[in-house]
Order: sequence, then C-alpha cells, then structure tokens
Amino acid sequence: MSPVVQKALSRIESLGRVSDSPSHLVRTFLSSANLRAARLVLGWMEELGMETSHAADGTIRGVFPGTTEETRPLLLGSHLDTVIDAGRYDGALGIIAALAALETMVESGGAPAFPVHVLGFSDEEGIRFQTTYLGSRPLAAPLDAASLAATDADGITLAEAIAREGWHEGAVPIRYEPGSLLGYVELHIEQGRVLEEEGLAACAVTAIAGQSRLRVSLTGRADHAGTTPMPLRRDALCGAAECILAAESLARETPPLVVTVGRIEVHPGASNSVPQSALFTIDLRHPDDAARTDALTRLEHRMRSIATNRGLSLQWMPVQDGNAVVCDPALTSRLLDAAESVTGTRLGLASGAGHDAVALSAICPVGMIFVRCRGGLSHHPDEHASPEDIAAGIGVLARFLQSPLC
Ligand SMILES: [Zn+2]
Repeated sequence: MSPVVQKALSRIESLGRVSDSPSHLVRTFLSSANLRAARLVLGWMEELGMETSHAADGTIRGVFPGTTEETRPLLLGSHLDTVIDAGRYDGALGIIAALAALETMVESGGAPAFPVHVLGFSDEEGIRFQTTYLGSRPLAAPLDAASLAATDADGITLAEAIAREGWHEGAVPIRYEPGSLLGYVELHIEQGRVLEEEGLAACAVTAIAGQSRLRVSLTGRADHAGTTPMPLRRDALCGAAECILAAESLARETPPLVVTVGRIEVHPGASNSVPQSALFTIDLRHPDDAARTDALTRLEHRMRSIATNRGLSLQWMPVQDGNAVVCDPALTSRLLDAAESVTGTRLGLASGAGHDAVALSAICPVGMIFVRCRGGLSHHPDEHASPEDIAAGIGVLARFLQSPLC
C-alpha cells in the first residue's frame, strides 16, 4: 500500500471520529462536528499547498494550480455531512480521494494541466432541513426562498440557521458561472451491490437516476371484522397490498426501474375492524426520464383498475419529481478509460442514489466514479470499502487527472 493510500485510510478514520454524538457518527448541516470536520479537511488541503477558503454555510474549497494557461478549473469533491448513525465512507471518501489523487500526481513529479478545486460540501443528505444538496446548490445559484424558509425540527429556518450558526469569519461565497468550469467529478462509494457482483473495485457512472415520490390513498369502508362476509367488504388495506405487489411486479418486469413502498398508514388501524383507508408512499426511480414517466403512467393505471375492482376510491398524489442527470459523455469516456486502465474492465453504471453531481449539473458537465463497498451497505455504521478498492479508486482519479481535458 503506497504512503498516499495509507494517509487516505488514516484520514478516513480521523474524519469518521468527528461526530456530534459520542456513540455513533452523525454530522449535519452547520453542526459543531460538521464545522470541525471542515477545519480538519482544510488543514489537509493546506498540507498539500492548496489555497483554501470556506463559505458561511460551511462548504470548503482548496485550490490547486494547473501547469498550463488553462484557467477553467476542474472541480472534485463530495459532502462532509452524514446521515444519523452513518458509515465513514459516504461523502468523506470523495473528498479524501480527491486530495490523494492530487498527492499521487505530486509524488510522481507531476501536476494537473488545469486548476483543480477540491470541495467539501456542508450538506448533501438533507437530514436537518429535509431538503438535499444545501452545500452544493449554492455553487450554481443562491438558494431559493422556499429552501431558505425550510425549518428544522426546532422550527429554525434555514436562513436563520445560516445567519446565527454560520461560519462567517473569513467566509467568502463559493460560486461559479455556467461555462467557467471544465467539469465536476465525484468519487463515491457505490452504495449498491453491482460492483461486488461484477468483481470490480471501481467503475465510471453514466447517469444518476431521476426520482418520483408520490403518496397514494385508498378509501373503502370500515366494517366489523366478525360480521362482514368477505364478498361484502371494501378493504382498503387489501387493495393497498395488491397495489404494492403490482408496483413490485412492474419494476421486476422493467429493469432498471426500481419502485419502493416504504411507509403505509392504515385507518382505523384496529385488529377487529376492516381497514377503511390506507395511505402509502411510492419512491420510483429510473435513469431515463421518459421511461420513468411511462412507468408512472402504467403504475397509476394498474392501481386505478385494482381500486375499481375492489370498490375503492384512489387518490394519486405526486409529491416530488427530479429528472435524471446524464453524466457528460466526454468526461465519462475519460473516466471509463481511467477505470479500465486500473481494473481491466470498462463498465459504466447508473446511480440509483442522488449525489452532489446532480446540483453541479446545473452549471457544468459532471462525471462520477464508483468504488465498491462491502455488501452494498451504506448509511450504516458497518459501511466498508476495502483499502485495495480505495487505492483503485484513487488510482482511477489520478489517471483521470492526467487526461487532456483542456
Ligand atoms: Zn453520499
């Protein structure tokens, strides 16, 4: 294991110990631990001779100069924040691997032809304000009024939180104009099991799936569980069960569509009453927006006919729609080259999870590298990427930095 990789591994351990809780790992937007994590990483950036800065919202940046006339920077990085009871790799690995890739170049006497800006975003997970990419969105445009009005569990708005708890001393806005960047490249653990099944340490990412979130409500009639014969029932929960299985079948029939029902509420919720109503959530994702829209239409049609057959009324309530992001073909082709040179296999995967690259795609071409993680497990303290796979990921990124992007 090279000294650069050793250092990266020990940094993952160090960053993994910076937490708001003594019992588990958690760092949320503007929390004390998130700001301590930001300062720790800024120190590592300075060790590399980078010029550093931070924004009031806790997002950090290190600037590494290029060796040519090219002034447009390539952005690298990921997020500093975590979910509650998180693993040590989600987010952290992308920032640490970016620094390690630069160090790898420096160690071998080289440097990138273009400036490289490494970013650590203060929020991607959206735990505190239930709205994602708070750290990366401001790079493209100031946060909109609706986001700034979002409140946390204590009723504090995002605008108030930044004003009162932000890191204002020495802060500068970190923002980029569209067209001013070579691109944004993020290395992240896969958070899935495909690389493990393929026996690959790392690969390039071709797209980030679009997501639709909905709520579906079915209403029938509450009745006595003992006196109502089966043919006379209008059981909302049985209808919901059939709808949920229909959603599962649709996804199984049309990969790479994925559909999840993660929550259901039943009324009146008594063991001796026929359920009157059932309300459930749908999370539906596909890397192709037209296919996602088509799946939504088909699913609504299937669920409506299930409801009609059972004498239930159905309400279909869209909550949120996010389009897929297609990774830039030119950047991705170079990332595929770099990954192939390290792993021997040319594989591009679509990401089912959202990433900061989604926010950055508003202003520049984006690309991503996935690193295998054990069992696909993420958002869990047992999240793990092996030292060999991390070394491979750093290798891919270092290779990529040598490509003629400009
Ligand atoms: Zn992440």
